[in-house]
Amino acid sequence: MIRFDQVTKRYADGTTAVDDLSFEVGEGELVTLVGPSGCGKTTTMMMVNRLIEPTSGRIFVDGEDISKVDPVKLRRRIGYVIQQVGLFPHRTVLDNTATVPALIGWKKSTARARAAELLDLVGLDPKQYGSRYPEQLSGGQRQRVGVARALAADPPVLLMDEPFGAVDPVVREQLQDEFLRMQAAVRKTVLLVTHDIEEAVRLGDRIAVYGEGRIEQFDTPGAVLGTP
Ligand code: ADP
Ligand code: ADP
Repeated sequence: MIRFDQVTKRYADGTTAVDDLSFEVGEGELVTLVGPSGCGKTTTMMMVNRLIEPTSGRIFVDGEDISKVDPVKLRRRIGYVIQQVGLFPHRTVLDNTATVPALIGWKKSTARARAAELLDLVGLDPKQYGSRYPEQLSGGQRQRVGVARALAADPPVLLMDEPFGAVDPVVREQLQDEFLRMQAAVRKTVLLVTHDIEEAVRLGDRIAVYGEGRIEQFDTPGAVLGTP
């Protein structure tokens, strides 16, 4: 579903963030990218939705070379969740969640019904929370809205950059559990960046262990931990 073919990214100042990276992620597979800060995880992910362009190499999504796909169309097929979820402060939770479906022309009632479904899926009762504003939610609840919003238009691919990084450990574990339940139901192809090896092991079907612009190991959690 996602394939990197000898991808290198050098920034304007000469920093090589990603160096000759090749890997493949299967349909419905959840791959966690783990490693210390500054080793190229975010750069890798942002190249998938063309927020960053590679210096060389090619990236394929669903068999298509994404350099030939209109970025706006590409991003409709790719949900994106970041640590500081940029929810619209003056829109309700339900309207925030319905943003993308509304943008791509779904009927308002259909978009809202879909948004309610997704809020339910991430563990927020739409009746209780749908009409609230982001500031009336806890950090963990906001993060859930971010996930619901990213999934609302039903993209086959989901990119998540430290999605559970901004909440305390107890809430993080809850969110991880709920995310795993949700993923079992929807089976998206997911790239999830974390610097927390425990999270990488807990969530990943496979783990890409980064060091300095390269993937040093790409294997199942058991193999990465050295247990068969
Ligand atoms: P994180 O490690 O959580 O991704 P960073 O602080 O590394 O956060 O990066 C935040 C933003 O700053 C990103 O958009 C990244 O592309 C940008 N950035 C990171 N390092 C540099 C740098 N050396 N020069 C310019 N921009 C940078
Ligand atoms: P990670 O997500 O693993 O923390 P990043 O992909 O954000 O790593 O960054 C990889 C390297 O690229 C770091 O050395 C970072 O400082 C550098 N970098 C990131 N964004 C930029 C940028 N816009 N300009 C220059 N260097 C950058």
